[in-house]
Amino acid sequence: MKNLFQINTSIAALLTGVAALILADLGIAPVSDAEAAGGVVTDPNGTAPDRYVYYPGTEPLAKDEIRVIACGTGMPAARRGQAATCFLIEAGNGDKFLFDVGTGSMANVAALMIPYQYLDKVFLSHLHTDHMGDIDALWAGGWTAGRPNALRVWGPSGATPEMGTQYAMDRFLEFVNWDKVTREYKISPIPGQIDVTEFDYKVPDQIVYQENGVTIRSYPAIHIGDGPVSYMFEYAGMKVFFSGDTVPNKWFVKYGKGVDLAIHEAFFVPQTFVDYYNQPPQLGWRTCCEFHTSAQAFGKVMSSIKPRHAVAFHFFDEEATRYGIYEGIRETYDGPFSMATDMMVWNVTKKDITERMAVSTDDAWSVPGTAQQPPPEKGRPNPMSDQINSGRWEEAFRAQDSMLDEYMERHNLQDQDWRPAMYEQMKGK
Ligand SMILES: [Zn+2]
Ligand SMILES: [Zn+2]
Repeated sequence: MKNLFQINTSIAALLTGVAALILADLGIAPVSDAEAAGGVVTDPNGTAPDRYVYYPGTEPLAKDEIRVIACGTGMPAARRGQAATCFLIEAGNGDKFLFDVGTGSMANVAALMIPYQYLDKVFLSHLHTDHMGDIDALWAGGWTAGRPNALRVWGPSGATPEMGTQYAMDRFLEFVNWDKVTREYKISPIPGQIDVTEFDYKVPDQIVYQENGVTIRSYPAIHIGDGPVSYMFEYAGMKVFFSGDTVPNKWFVKYGKGVDLAIHEAFFVPQTFVDYYNQPPQLGWRTCCEFHTSAQAFGKVMSSIKPRHAVAFHFFDEEATRYGIYEGIRETYDGPFSMATDMMVWNVTKKDITERMAVSTDDAWSVPGTAQQPPPEKGRPNPMSDQINSGRWEEAFRAQDSMLDEYMERHNLQDQDWRPAMYEQMKGK
């Protein structure tokens, strides 16, 4: 028999559940039991405050909230513990935006278990591979994992057409031509398309995207050659400013004044490049401070724009080197900031900005969205010749027959059975 305490607990749990549903309906993110009780655990069966970690897929965003997740914050040299640049920005209206997809970052994006259907908007700051190297994993991984729509990619022009985003994406699709043609034939061609919007990199404060209450503007950045840009993401009266790769520049300082979240690169001190990358000293100090932003210069930028919260990225965030950057920033900036590392999460509302770490599985499947992929198009030439097809070994194919019979019956696929024709073809050879 249940005692009174248990009954009360279940009623409380029920009420908490109902309250969470009501809050979600109102667009207000529900809080944990402990948070509702002011940060203390009043119920031994209650949940802990969610201030410590973010568990992907468990927190609805409020309508007037922005969530930013660092899915890559490191360097071009690949490392298992930290991917290259990628920031996911989620708006309370449900729209999601990837800012850069640097090498290795898609494993972190995938760990968030967001349906690929909703990961179809990418904004490239520039065309260095540490900012777009995982476009292949998003493109093909999303295709096989259920993205029904084309990828949409925004990016800057260059000094000449061959230095622009359209050129890069066209050549990317040529590079992956075998992949593309074979998947188009077997799966569906639409998710393999890339719709590119290339805009003039020279124009400051230019609107490059405006839909459903989200406005994204671009600004020239100064890096190694013409082309790189910074992006301002604006939603619900709040602004997130993402520098991409840049030296301190007057556009970031002019337009970044008072933004809510300022995400800006901050590089190692030059000696680190000499000690760890074996860069010649003449290169080390140019890398740090001529075409990137040093920690001291990052601090100066933040002291002058005074964001509600600053985020430093583009360094290996590890014990050996992080303090050089931290102390460099503190020479010139005493405001709030994060030393970004992969899977760091910021929730931004008018009221406050929180920093947490996402905790997720290494073995995540994507969660399905609402849409399913269209079928393959008829009439495309089969990329497999009769000669290669004829090498199929019948005995092994027969071994899977009873498993496939059961599957086809379960899904009503009997009228699409490709086996009789295949066995006929095997006999003929
Ligand atoms: Zn770069
Ligand atoms: Zn970079």
